[in-house]
Amino acid sequence: ERTDFVRYFHEVIDRFDMNKPEHVILQRQLPKSALEVWLDKDKMTQVLDNVISNAIKYSPEGGVIRLKVEKQRHHLLVSVQDQGLGIAYDKLEKIFERFYRADKARTRNLGGTGLGLAISKEIIEAQHGRIWAKSKEGKGTTILFTLPLMNEKRRGYY
Ligand code: ATP
Ligand code: MG
Repeated sequence: ERTDFVRYFHEVIDRFDMNKPEHVILQRQLPKSALEVWLDKDKMTQVLDNVISNAIKYSPEGGVIRLKVEKQRHHLLVSVQDQGLGIAYDKLEKIFERFYRADKARTRNLGGTGLGLAISKEIIEAQHGRIWAKSKEGKGTTILFTLPLMNEKRRGYY
């Protein structure tokens, strides 16, 4: 359905703020004005739940998680940046594959199946977006995705 992504994202983050571990800080960097997108909310919530839980789960030393929305020409750019252990450069694409879990020793006791990001990728691509990761080992990880904005004049996508 047609949704103001900014307001919707605030609601998702509010929910995390109520349940997150104390040592993690969620920092919002969202635009003040509404940004209309066409959204399957349930599916988008699945994506955000996974990406934000990953940021919390793989940031054992806590730190700040920055949640950002930027308006680009025809897209929204959403990013979730953590200060966790990071992901090796050659694994950055693999984490979107089914059942892939980087660094087995490290993630073994953290739980999970390695499906979260593979499902997230399917959902984002079905909504005509792209998803990818950036990371510096030891410094942190950023998961980014795009979503097409609605075109008011043509009443559709750009
Ligand atoms: P699931 O989401 O199914 O519960 P999972 O979290 O292990 O399990 P994904 O969300 O698909 O699976 O993530 C795949 C792998 O990518 C993780 O096991 C982890 O190794 C790595 N990863 C994902 N997000 C981060 C992050 N923010 N920092 C470091 N590593 C990450
Ligand atoms: Mg996950």
